[in-house]
Amino acid sequence: MQRAIFLDRDGTINHDPGYIKDPSEIIILDGVSEGLKKLKEKFGFKIIVVSNQAGVSKGLMTREDVEAVNLRVNQLLQYEGASVDAFYYCPYHPDFDPPEKTICRKPSPFMIVQAAEEYEIDLSNSYMVGDKASDVECGLNANVKSILISGQNLEKEISTLHNLGKKPNFVAANFIQACDYIIKDLSGGV
Ligand SMILES: [Mg+2]
Repeated sequence: MQRAIFLDRDGTINHDPGYIKDPSEIIILDGVSEGLKKLKEKFGFKIIVVSNQAGVSKGLMTREDVEAVNLRVNQLLQYEGASVDAFYYCPYHPDFDPPEKTICRKPSPFMIVQAAEEYEIDLSNSYMVGDKASDVECGLNANVKSILISGQNLEKEISTLHNLGKKPNFVAANFIQACDYIIKDLSGGV
C-alpha cells in the first residue's frame, strides 16, 4: 500500500484567478515544486490532484481545457524536478447537474476514495492539502489528515469549517509549511 498527498489544484498548486481555461495563465506558487519533489523522492508519496472544475458544467470551459491546464501544471512542475502522478476532477455543479453526477464534487470524498482504489493508497497514512474549507472537509470525510493553506479568504474558510464543527489538522501559511508539517507528522513529531 502506498501513501499519497491529495492536493487541490487552483490556489494550492497554482495561482488562482478563477476558472482557468488557458494553460498559458498557469503560474506555480512558491515552494510547490520544491515541496512536492521532497515528499515524493524522500518520503515516497504519490502526488494526486483532486479538483472541482464546475466551469465545465457552467459552459465556461471544456474538459479538454481542464486537461490542457492539468498537462501544463505538470509540465511546469517537471521543469523543477517535481510531478503529479494523477489528476482527478469533478466537472459538475449542483445548479446544473443531478445529484448522481455531483457526487464527485468536493467536499464529497468521492475522488479521494476513487484514487485510493485505483492506486492502492493507504488513506490512514495520507494527507489532503487545499486552500478552501471544502478541501479540508473533503479530506476529513475521507479520513485523511487535512491541511488548510492560507489563501485570500483564510478567515472565511476557517469560520466555515468552525460552523460545520470541523477543524483542519493544521493551518499552513504557505506550501512549504504544509510540507514541513507532513514530514514532522510522519515521524510522530507534531
Ligand atoms: Mg483551491
